[in-house]
Amino acid sequence: MTLDAKVPAGPIEKKWDQHRFEMKLVNPANKRKYNVIVVGSGLAGGAAAATLAQLGYNVKCFCYQDSPRRAHSIAAQGGINAAKNYQNDGDSIYRLFYDTVKGGDFRAREANVYRLAQISVNIIDQCVAQGVPFAREYGGTLDNRSFGGAQVSRTFYARGQTGQQLLLGAYQALEKQIGLGKVQMYSRHEMLELVMIDGRARGIVVRDMVTGKIESHVADDVILATGGYGNAFYLATYAKGCNATAIWRAYKKGAYFANPCYTQIHPTCIPVTGDHQSKLTLMSESLRNDGRIWVPKKKGDTRPPDQIPEDERDYYLERRYPAFGNLVPRDIASRAAKQVSDEGRGVGPTGLGVYLDFSDAIRRLGQPVIAEKYGNLFDMYERITDENPYKVPMRIWPAIHYTMGGLWVDYNLMSTIPGLHVLGEANFSDHGANRLGASALMQGLADGYFVIPYTIGDYLASSSLPKVGTDHAAFKEAEASVDGRVKKLLAINGTRTVDSFHRELGKILWEYCGMARTAEGLKTALEKIPALREEFWKSVRVLGDGASLNQSLEKAGRVADFLELGELICRDALERNESCGGHFRLEYQTPEGEARRDDEHFTHVAAWQYTGDGQAPTRHQEPLAFEYVHPSQRSYK
Ligand SMILES: Cc1cc2nc3c(=O)[nH]c(=O)nc-3n(C[C@H](O)[C@H](O)[C@H](O)COP(=O)(O)OP(=O)(O)OC[C@H]3O[C@@H](n4cnc5c(N)ncnc54)[C@H](O)[C@@H]3O)c2cc1C
Repeated sequence: MTLDAKVPAGPIEKKWDQHRFEMKLVNPANKRKYNVIVVGSGLAGGAAAATLAQLGYNVKCFCYQDSPRRAHSIAAQGGINAAKNYQNDGDSIYRLFYDTVKGGDFRAREANVYRLAQISVNIIDQCVAQGVPFAREYGGTLDNRSFGGAQVSRTFYARGQTGQQLLLGAYQALEKQIGLGKVQMYSRHEMLELVMIDGRARGIVVRDMVTGKIESHVADDVILATGGYGNAFYLATYAKGCNATAIWRAYKKGAYFANPCYTQIHPTCIPVTGDHQSKLTLMSESLRNDGRIWVPKKKGDTRPPDQIPEDERDYYLERRYPAFGNLVPRDIASRAAKQVSDEGRGVGPTGLGVYLDFSDAIRRLGQPVIAEKYGNLFDMYERITDENPYKVPMRIWPAIHYTMGGLWVDYNLMSTIPGLHVLGEANFSDHGANRLGASALMQGLADGYFVIPYTIGDYLASSSLPKVGTDHAAFKEAEASVDGRVKKLLAINGTRTVDSFHRELGKILWEYCGMARTAEGLKTALEKIPALREEFWKSVRVLGDGASLNQSLEKAGRVADFLELGELICRDALERNESCGGHFRLEYQTPEGEARRDDEHFTHVAAWQYTGDGQAPTRHQEPLAFEYVHPSQRSYK
């Protein structure tokens, strides 16, 4: 199958407008005749469900939380980018586009990135109209701060709770449509299978997580907005429930999985303290606006930070990257932290840490100003570490945080399965091999509020979609497969907990496919993961039954999927014989330790096709062309 990205012709700044004009429309009266399923109620799914219902479509929206308002998007702290140029500091749509293509290490599709930068401007207006309380300056205008990979201030924020406030905006819009009867909301329902009829996505099978009932839902289009898969690594900054099940089941039905090895490691998380931990906590990138990152110049220096004089400190990001300083992109900051720690200059009890120090900013601006900007993050840090970051520097360390990979989609956000659209972090996105901070919220909302409302109409208006019911054999088959899997997991009755398998998988992925990867390590991982998977299906112990709320069962299903996806992540990393963005192969680096791309052989998206259990998947390529931002060695110096 050829991967046709369906990028419209014409100059980049006109593509989206022209495409919107050329796409077919569904007239208002006919929209009522179409049923759409949206799986996910985070920023991408919530925005899509509310907007499509407002347009007149009949929407069913699903989430596994007890309320759509608890989607993982609520955790986003730092902000959302938009090329508004309110600061008059040289920003523009073109600059946001340029920064994103370069930040992604020239592995994203230019046309998508340009559209994202264009739409960013509308998102802020939309959210302000919804009442999202973005931070404002004294005179009442919206405030901005800076995020990594940019030399302008284009990040809009609501203290350290930007995701929460944006999600409340989307949630209110969604609730309005629920109240009007245009959205039927199914909380605590987990999608466990995609149903295909005549080669198109026509519905899903879900499990009611409270009663265990397995149900089918039919639709004319299925939208997955189910978030990222970083929890495959077990220790990550994601909410504990985040998982890959929806996209993985779609992959097994024919949706190609793009760039699974592009995982983002965020440089500023609270360091791991031992084996007892079940998740990691992010300290927002916004802190790098005022915090300075450093380690002692001397190896093995165990003096407390306040006893290390200024001239014995190495502000290594400011030293190595004077133009961007502490605001270099995440992949670069994470690798630099690893390098100083590998040199024996890491701090804290494990040596796996670096300082993020606010003393200069507090001296310059005063503690109340810092508290006003970052107070909730400082409180969170103190509650977790019992150290007061107003007095001693924070200790931070990189952790898994986001996945740039995901289901492959064309310009219309449709996967390789007709009628299956994928939005937000669940698709392979616009971020190439490295996402810039504050761009995930932008992308999720762009997809949900501004892209899918147009492209879904084009699909529906140009497709013949005969009426089908849940009595169709394809639904019965999918229900039987879900039921069979639940029963199989419960019947194993082995000796090891689900978590113990997940933890072990996470350790394998982090060790061999984390911050530094090698062909040899990846081959080891590709031996260990199938063996672990085999053991899982022999000796996992799933407590409880299938007819009631059973978190052990929910987790088991998700971990079983992670055990398959983990293998694909390593396979993809092994095949990509270059370093780019977050994918750092030790064999491919510049003399200064930066990622060395191989543009001749790898300027493409790798999209994997499932070919059957136990069979090697097929790797397809979507070539990438850079007509506007020409690939160069990224430099933040
Ligand atoms: C701690 C933290 C801070 C962050 N801060 C920022 C920031 O400041 N700026 C920024 O741009 N980005 C930030 N990010 C990234 C950003 O939050 C996410 O990428 C984004 O919110 C993802 O949104 P989404 O709508 O795609 O998915 P999610 O918000 O993860 O929503 C997924 C939805 O899918 C549902 N779902 C999943 N699987 C199933 C299933 N099988 N069945 C039914 N429902 C299902 C869930 O219930 C949920 O409703 C941060 C991430 C983390 C971890």
